[in-house]
Amino acid sequence: MKLVNKVAILATVFTASLSVIAEEKSELRVVTTEVAPKLYMLEGAGGFVGGNMMLSIGEDGVVLIDDALSSNLSLLKTAIKSVTDQPIDYLINTHFHADHIGNNEAFSKEGSHIVAHENIRHRLLKGAASSDNKKVVKGSLPVITFSHAMDFHLNGDDMHIFHVKNAHTDGDAVIHIENENIIHTGDTMFNGMFPYIDLANGGSLDGYINAQKTILALSDEQTKIIPGHGPIANKQDLQASIDMLEDTKQIITKLIASGKSEDEIVKLNPLSIYHDKWNWGFITTERMTRQIVQGLH
Ligand SMILES: [Zn+2]
Repeated sequence: MKLVNKVAILATVFTASLSVIAEEKSELRVVTTEVAPKLYMLEGAGGFVGGNMMLSIGEDGVVLIDDALSSNLSLLKTAIKSVTDQPIDYLINTHFHADHIGNNEAFSKEGSHIVAHENIRHRLLKGAASSDNKKVVKGSLPVITFSHAMDFHLNGDDMHIFHVKNAHTDGDAVIHIENENIIHTGDTMFNGMFPYIDLANGGSLDGYINAQKTILALSDEQTKIIPGHGPIANKQDLQASIDMLEDTKQIITKLIASGKSEDEIVKLNPLSIYHDKWNWGFITTERMTRQIVQGLH
């Protein structure tokens, strides 16, 4: 190979690496990706914006699924504006965590109707969305609630919204756009990361696994799965999560049965085989271990 070619190749590789670094250090923003005609996945880049969102636009109106942390309202609005100048008609909350419903109040002030499982409204009525955990923030409340399931027939899509019991919380909704073969899982899936199971707010290990199995049964090789956190997923990614959770459950169940305490189990680091692939900043391998121990008690 001629030297000049080598230099050209090296320069290309170097430039490519530089752009990767630039990408990593770029400012916080919401990226919009069209996953089907007029259906968009919205996700944070350059840092943590909140959970993954989805937007449906069309002649019948605009539907937004989840609305990020309140601190990122302007970033979210910029992303929405890049695909539509129409207001949000319906805002679906997948669950009550602040990184998914942080801008409820802002959108409801602009006329959006908030749709959610009834347990989210119950929690918010007890003040779950306010900083002091007592004050009810009226504008953040869902005005349309459901207990099992409901359907939207808008913009040419059949959007089936259904509750999965005691999974990530006690108020989770999964959204299946049947004709487009797209599923938004809310936080019943963290793609490639140990999941957070909110045991204090009605989440459970078995419910979490069951929710993933329910979603798996709705999926085929072409299904686009938008997880609550992490990159867009497919059926294999979901299967990998179920396998990891079931194996993890089995490992910890045996240790509990042998009489070991939570701290003793943590010391044994029994989930070390999953560390490299699944550990991350919020749910570390140790926190995952404790969460599973607590989830089995
Ligand atoms: Zn969550």
